[in-house]
Amino acid sequence: MIVLGHQNPDCDSLCSAIALSALFNKIGKQATPALQGEPNPEALFLLQKAKLEKPKILSSVAGEDVFLVDFSDWGQGTLDMKEAKILGIVDHHKLGDITTNEPVECWIWPVGCSATIVYNMYKFYNQIVDGPIAKLMMGAIISDTVNFRGPTTTDMDKEAVKGLAKIAGVEDVQGFAREQFEAKSDINNVPAAELILRDQKIFQMAGHKLAIGQLELTDLKTALSKKTQMIAELEKLQAEKDYHSSILLLTDINKLDTIALIISIDADKVAQALNSKVKDHTFELPGVVSRKKQIIPFLQTAFDS
Ligand code: MG
Ligand code: MG
Ligand code: MG
Repeated sequence: MIVLGHQNPDCDSLCSAIALSALFNKIGKQATPALQGEPNPEALFLLQKAKLEKPKILSSVAGEDVFLVDFSDWGQGTLDMKEAKILGIVDHHKLGDITTNEPVECWIWPVGCSATIVYNMYKFYNQIVDGPIAKLMMGAIISDTVNFRGPTTTDMDKEAVKGLAKIAGVEDVQGFAREQFEAKSDINNVPAAELILRDQKIFQMAGHKLAIGQLELTDLKTALSKKTQMIAELEKLQAEKDYHSSILLLTDINKLDTIALIISIDADKVAQALNSKVKDHTFELPGVVSRKKQIIPFLQTAFDS
């Protein structure tokens, strides 16, 4: 079986795919982790830290047995995923649109990270996480919960990181988090075209498609210096695809604030749904860090009404 993370691989989709495959192999189910594309710089940083190999990159899973991690939407899988046999899902997002013809094993919990669920699956199966994999998993939880400062954080995430840090032999978890966040904030030499796609997800709302990317950064200085280029790239993207909106969230993970860049056929509708106001393709979202919890639900409500 293939354990597959979502498009635009982040820490969680990489680390949980590796960790879950390793668990399955321990309990006698043959499994291989796979990614849909190159992992982002923060995920690569974790791989290097753990001294682990990058999983294979796949664009097709037709005819395969597949277990999904960190997503439950067809749109975030490979184009041919409907031709695969989906055996299970581990996820912590809102329930997506995947349905199956046969019963499917679901581990979908409202916690901060899929890796937290995988950590508890190890417990369920009475297995111990390997040291390097524990390092990956704790990095994924730190990333997804913004080091426990994001609103998706639960006690289960904190407990998992405590247990994983012990196994991984990491004494200074705060130092680990700092180094990891610096790795993802290094965007000096990254072209705007790449930045707008880095963590982009496409959301379906009342028949419209909204493309929403997010950059999580230790400060917004460099990002804001590239604002004009990034807006131009969003404009280009919007012209190529039939999106309702192309949005990039610039999230300051120290101040816990977001500035959004937007190209849209109705930017006011989007900004108003989030209690904000657009000026020069930009709107401010003070106190917002979580796309899944502080943005998507409000947009969904506005589009559904
Ligand atoms: Mg993810
Ligand atoms: Mg996740
Ligand atoms: Mg994320």
